[in-house]
Amino acid sequence: RVKEIGKNDFQFYTPEMNEMVSKKMQLEIGLRKALERKEFEVYYQPQIDVNSGRVIGVEALIRWEHPKLGFISPVEFIPIAEETGLIIPIGEWVLKEACRQNKEWQNQGFPAMRMAVNISSRQFKQSNLIAIVSKALEESGLEPHYLELELTESIIQDSKYAIMTMHQLKQMGIYLSIDDFGTGYSSLSYLKLFPIDSLKIDQSFTRNMFEDDKDAALVHTIISMAHNLDLKVIAEGVETEAQLAFLSQRQCNEAQGYLFSRPLPAHAISELIKHPYTYG
Ligand code: C2E
Ligand code: MG
Ligand code: MG
Ligand code: MG
Repeated sequence: RVKEIGKNDFQFYTPEMNEMVSKKMQLEIGLRKALERKEFEVYYQPQIDVNSGRVIGVEALIRWEHPKLGFISPVEFIPIAEETGLIIPIGEWVLKEACRQNKEWQNQGFPAMRMAVNISSRQFKQSNLIAIVSKALEESGLEPHYLELELTESIIQDSKYAIMTMHQLKQMGIYLSIDDFGTGYSSLSYLKLFPIDSLKIDQSFTRNMFEDDKDAALVHTIISMAHNLDLKVIAEGVETEAQLAFLSQRQCNEAQGYLFSRPLPAHAISELIKHPYTYG
């Protein structure tokens, strides 16, 4: 049994560091088996039209329940999936499942809405992305304009290839948006090159709007810029009425956040959209 260790003793750190390394390894090992063991589930978070208060879309967000460690946040495991390449099969599974679910809701007679799927940069760069997206649409029978792909500014690194791929997706009729807008370090010039439909204002700006005037100014500026470029704009992380009012006054098109709903499993979304859901 180890006796009390002084806080300046190096051993104080070692077990924690070991634990961190082994947790990452545990996650990596777990991720390799998670698909076949059916440990993933897709949750959906409503996106609301600011003017009408209606649900116009949902964002698909993956959830993972590790058999021993319990629920692991995608913030923790998506980067590991990216690093190991596991994001390719996992991402394809999410895309298929999300398209299938959206078509199922349409078949059940719910008002048609868009399904937004996050695409990480490694997924975006895979050579058969177009084939994978086409297959997900074909197999589900979902029309392409009901699918949205959320891309991040990081894909811009390889801009020639990115522009080509985006044009192909656009020609297929898919809705394209830039996620976490404003948090990347890319130049704005890509906005005129990329055939995108909308910008998603990152939640870090929305969150601090009333604590920091500069965040409010950034939110306002992103909305104006999007509109000047003929793009739609959606704010993420909307948690309060005051934030919604601010966004509405500045003609932000859409909003998403805990104010309306947390991400929910498919059956709970069915309940929500069963009775024509209108916020406010
Ligand atoms: P994201 O795409 O920016 O998704 C928004 C995140 O913000 C989600 O976290 C959502 O649950 C959370 N959120 C939504 N509204 C609020 C709010 O009002 N307040 C706060 N505090 N948070 C809010 P989540 O589900 O943990 O996902 C985190 C990130 O993981 C996502 O950020 C996305 O980058 C990534 N991710 C999730 N699912 C997938 C996936 O299927 N594929 C890929 N490639 N990435 C995914
Ligand atoms: Mg997203
Ligand atoms: Mg985001
Ligand atoms: Mg994000």
